[in-house]
Amino acid sequence: MPEGHTIHRLASALDELWSGQRLRASSPQGRFANGAESIDGQVLLGASAHGKHLFLPFAPEGYMPLDGPGVTWLRVHLGLYGSWTFDGDASFTAPHAIGAPRRRVGERGEHPLGRSGGSALVGLGVGTGGGTAPGKWSPSEPRGAVRLRLLGEHGCADLTGPAACELLDADGVAAVRHRLGPDPLRDDGEREVFVANVRRRRKPVGELLMDQAVLAGAGNIYRAETLFRCRINPYRPGNATGVGRLRAVWDDLVPLMTYGVETGFITTVDAADVPDVLDEGDQEAARWYVYHRDGRACLRCGTTVRRAEVGGRTLFWCPRCQAR
Ligand SMILES: [Zn+2]
Repeated sequence: MPEGHTIHRLASALDELWSGQRLRASSPQGRFANGAESIDGQVLLGASAHGKHLFLPFAPEGYMPLDGPGVTWLRVHLGLYGSWTFDGDASFTAPHAIGAPRRRVGERGEHPLGRSGGSALVGLGVGTGGGTAPGKWSPSEPRGAVRLRLLGEHGCADLTGPAACELLDADGVAAVRHRLGPDPLRDDGEREVFVANVRRRRKPVGELLMDQAVLAGAGNIYRAETLFRCRINPYRPGNATGVGRLRAVWDDLVPLMTYGVETGFITTVDAADVPDVLDEGDQEAARWYVYHRDGRACLRCGTTVRRAEVGGRTLFWCPRCQAR
C-alpha cells in the first residue's frame, strides 16, 4: 500500500495538472456510474490528502463559494490493490514542479524512476501517450476494470481497484477526517494530538504508529525507520512511552515524509551511515536502516536486525539500538 507521502504527491500533481479545469468523469467498469455522472463536466477545485485518503472537490462551472453546499467531494483510498494510471499528450506528461504523478501510483507501492526530479508521468511505459503533440492526443481504451476515468483536454487518469471511491459533502469529509489521526504532512497536523493518541493506548508503539486513527499517513517503512532513528523499542507500550520521545518521532517524520513528497522516495539513512560498499543483496542499506534488512548487520552497531509479525504486518528493528 502506498504510504501517505505518495498520496500527497499525487494530490499536488492533480492540483497542478487540473485545478480550475472542467473534467469529464465516467466509470468504464460501471461500478461508479452514478457517482461519475454527478461530477461529469464539473470543475476540479483542487486536491488534497489526509493520510492515505485523497480528496478532490468538484463544483459546477462558475460556482461560488468554494466551500458552499454545491461542492461535491470525491474521496479515494487506494487500499492494497488500487492504482491510478495516467496517459496524455506531451503537455500533460511534461515535467511538473512536484515531479508527479508517476505513470502509476499504488498497487505494488512505488516505482522508483531515478532521482532526476522530472515528470513522474514519464518512465513507466504505461499507456500510449507521453510524446504526442498537444492537441493530437486522444484517450486510449480503458484497460482492466476502471472504476473511474477523469479526462481533461490533455490527459486522463484511470482509477482501478480502490478500497474506497465515493462522493461526500463537506460534512462527510469532516467525518472521515475526524476518524484520522494527525498527518505530519498537513499544516493542520498537531504533534501534541499524536502524542496524546499514543499515550492513551496500551498497545505497542510499533503497532500504534501504523494505526491511522493515531497517526495518519505513515506505513510500514516510516514506522520501522523512525522508531530506529529515535531508538525506541517497538514493543514499548504506548502509554509507557515518554512525551519527549514521541515528540521526537513526530519531529523526525515531518522532514522524512516531506522528502518523500518531494522526491517520491523513502530514504531514511543519514549519508554518514551509508556503507561505502553495499553487500550483495543488501541494496536497502543505502536507503533504510532496518526495513527489509532482517539478518543484516545494523548500520550503526553491527547487531543483527530482527523481524517479527505484529498486527499482521512485518516489523523490523535493531534489538541493541532499540533496547528500550
Ligand atoms: Zn543497532
